[in-house]
Amino acid sequence: MRKDPARLSFEVQARVGDARAGLIRVAHGEVATPAFIPLATKASVRGLSSAEVAGLGYELVLANTFHLHLAPGEASIADRGGLHRFMGWERPIITDSGGFQVFSLAHGGVADEIKGRRGSVAGGAKVEISEQGVAFQSLLDGSNRFLGPEESMRIQAALGSDIALTFDECTPFHADRDYTARSTERTHRWLDRCLARHEREGPDGQAVFGIVQGGVYEDLRRESAERNSAAAVDGIAIGGTLGREKEEMRGVLGFTVPLLPGDAPRHLLGIGEIDDLLAGIGMGIDLFDCAIPTRLARHGTALAPAPEGRFRIDLTKRAYGTDDAPIVEGCACEACRRHTRAYLHYLARNKDLTGTRLLTLHNLHYVERLVRGAREAIAAGDLATYSNAVLNGASPWAAAAAR
Ligand SMILES: [Zn+2]
Repeated sequence: MRKDPARLSFEVQARVGDARAGLIRVAHGEVATPAFIPLATKASVRGLSSAEVAGLGYELVLANTFHLHLAPGEASIADRGGLHRFMGWERPIITDSGGFQVFSLAHGGVADEIKGRRGSVAGGAKVEISEQGVAFQSLLDGSNRFLGPEESMRIQAALGSDIALTFDECTPFHADRDYTARSTERTHRWLDRCLARHEREGPDGQAVFGIVQGGVYEDLRRESAERNSAAAVDGIAIGGTLGREKEEMRGVLGFTVPLLPGDAPRHLLGIGEIDDLLAGIGMGIDLFDCAIPTRLARHGTALAPAPEGRFRIDLTKRAYGTDDAPIVEGCACEACRRHTRAYLHYLARNKDLTGTRLLTLHNLHYVERLVRGAREAIAAGDLATYSNAVLNGASPWAAAAAR
């Protein structure tokens, strides 16, 4: 690990069991941990202004190297004064490497995402993976593009994020052990190339997180954790498949997290359901990013103290059409303070932008309160009571009040 306060400092302020509460300091400010990171994939948390995201209490957002490279392009953003100024967000930003997106091009996930918006590109993406990196065709305009370790670091430097992630292959859950082993080794060679490029070209004030891969295999995860811990990184993220089910995920995290250095931030990539957040926090993870809260909002679904329904309610269901209660009783968000389930049901059925905005505000408020409650519970020395109350159906604020 590297200790360079000019890039990043991390202070653990309280511990209970394996869980910890702390403070990360980077170029654009402080982030209290554990923290949830909303996705600002294409330089916006979809539907909200940057001021609204800050108003919800968030201190860090995650932007996407792959998407911003395709449009508007990192040069254009650099010319506008960097990503912070471009999107009017003064707080810290973390950028992912684009590795996940170029590798999922082959499987269609990202292609659908882009095609859904543009509606004009036919057929699948041409993707060629080599030791050098990934060559692919832009689904926006058909142009030939290339993303590898050096390109990813160059783009993230131009965007000016506070924390860059190294370029990796996110191994899919169906990859076998051989494939995962070879892929993880290549990811380690890419880690070295990312850090060499960053060392050479900077920027000086930017922190870098390495990514532990290795799929569901304990020996591969161990090797990857050791490789990352020995590298000059400022924090470590856990990526790749964690298995098919929650049980398996908890198992993989159970043997992976203890392999990570205790004095550096730990970021779990792409996980963000209510029970998974609490489990991860309990294991000592500091940062989480996930599309779920904002994506659910766009589909008319609200987070709620409903363990029997995966902590969500689908407001598009007919029964909510005559329901005069707020989404969640006692919720301080704008949607719950001013509106009924019936109104939100009606907006969601009409695919009204107002409905998407209100549900996005609610879901992000709910997750912020959940994680803040956990932070306070750790500081008070009793996370278990809080977590159990939430898992048993209390809202985050009710669980915090009962603690
Ligand atoms: Zn609400």
